[in-house]
Amino acid sequence: ADGADGTDNRDPAPGSGGAIHRGHQALFIGGQWVPAAGDGTIDVIDPATEQVIGTVPAGTALDVDTAVRVARAALPGWAATAPADRAAVLAAARDLLAARREEVAATVSAELGAPPAFAAAVHAGLPTAVLASYAELAASHPFEERVGNSRVLQEPVGVVGAITPWNYPLHQIVAKVAPALAAGCTVVLKPAEDTPLVAQLFADVLAAAGLPAGVFNLVTGLGPVAGQALAEHPGVDLVSFTGSTAVGRQIGATAGAAVKRVALELGGKSANVILPGADLARAVNVGLANVFANSGQTCSAWTRMLVDAERYDEAVAIAAAATAKYVPGDRLGPVVNAKQRDRVRGYIRRGQEEGARVVAGGPDAPEGMATGYYVRPTVFADVQPDMAIAQEEIFGPVVVMIRYEDEEDALRIANGTVYGLAGAVWGADEESAVAFARRMDTGQVDINGGRFNPLAPFGGYKQSGVGRELGAHGLAEYLQTKSLQF
Ligand code: NAD
Repeated sequence: ADGADGTDNRDPAPGSGGAIHRGHQALFIGGQWVPAAGDGTIDVIDPATEQVIGTVPAGTALDVDTAVRVARAALPGWAATAPADRAAVLAAARDLLAARREEVAATVSAELGAPPAFAAAVHAGLPTAVLASYAELAASHPFEERVGNSRVLQEPVGVVGAITPWNYPLHQIVAKVAPALAAGCTVVLKPAEDTPLVAQLFADVLAAAGLPAGVFNLVTGLGPVAGQALAEHPGVDLVSFTGSTAVGRQIGATAGAAVKRVALELGGKSANVILPGADLARAVNVGLANVFANSGQTCSAWTRMLVDAERYDEAVAIAAAATAKYVPGDRLGPVVNAKQRDRVRGYIRRGQEEGARVVAGGPDAPEGMATGYYVRPTVFADVQPDMAIAQEEIFGPVVVMIRYEDEEDALRIANGTVYGLAGAVWGADEESAVAFARRMDTGQVDINGGRFNPLAPFGGYKQSGVGRELGAHGLAEYLQTKSLQF
């Protein structure tokens, strides 16, 4: 049996070695699994098989209100808990999550469609690393400092309303909940409706780690219902949202009207800039892997590849050949749902209509894949920077290759979208790549294939967002300062 609702909901996932969490028929509020106020439910669908794999409650404004009141009641106690004790809970949660790694991977694999190896390495591995980083930061952060004749206190902002997307379902949750708990905040989480199962699993982990009742609460539900109720609730002090720019704009406006803190992690259209003299084959291959990982559903993906005119044709040939290795169903999972599949295929057709040249993939269903929301990995050449496929976030396995004349032209193109989340620069040496990266209007740049760092601040310039996640910068989002003068 798995939890207070008495359901035994763990069946082995085929070929995964782990068990899928099938869903509590309840919300996690005040340290317990409790029934939702209404009787609406959400079916969770495996995008590879199109089969229902679990069901969770569709919480409503009434449930959100209950959860926010419970979180507020729990706030004084948790805020007053010594940082070392908060750190101990986070460290215990890290250990418990690591112990359930196979179940996390199987669950994300089933509800998102991620291939098992990627689910294990990234969807299960990353949250564990981020939890560990906040266990350390909670213990080491200077929550009190002397500045001249003042003592400056960093206090929790209060009750956090966290709203997360489906693309990295557990990572996005942990990137908000771990720093919030480290700071002494209490949380109400509304996870994405496509991927609520791993969120429930995480609630079980936090409870088992000894987190006091009411400090973390989970309300599953639909965005315009439960999500909107959470964003608008007067008892929430900070809304932390990751998702589309369209919804982020609404949430920002609501928070602005209420003079309430808000953190927004939104979309991107990041540039992979390959400078003359860079290792072309490596830059193209790593660039494609960056986009095709998670089936292109990564907000920071380098979806625009910029190559100098002289080596452009060579780069296109390398990309076309390399894309053949990303076989749908094997190395490349489906996209999350039918709506996203149709949207991505629509963009591929639009690129063809705009006059770009398909050199790999295309809008049709992959051969022999009658079931599952699969899209062919697609590379466009002869792309003009102002085409829709070069400006708008597609959120699928689609790369556009753009030719540039010189470095100034490359910079203009790289900076020429409304977004600024991430990017990459490949140069003959580190110095020239860093010099270019300094001029990019974007929040994070990988230099010559630099590795992901869970302590590095992550977040957007321009319309990619407000605020930063991860590391000490991520912790700062959940703190407010008070100064005492002596
Ligand atoms: P989405 O904005 O539709 O949904 C995100 C979350 O917001 C979900 O939990 C959803 O239920 C909720 N939501 C929807 N409507 C709402 C409303 N009116 N009020 C309150 N909450 C609402 O986005 P999505 O389709 O789930 O995710 C894809 C998008 O997210 C892409 O644009 C992607 O770039 C972006 N994204 C950004 C980051 C980042 O860190 N910057 C990370 C992942 C995804």
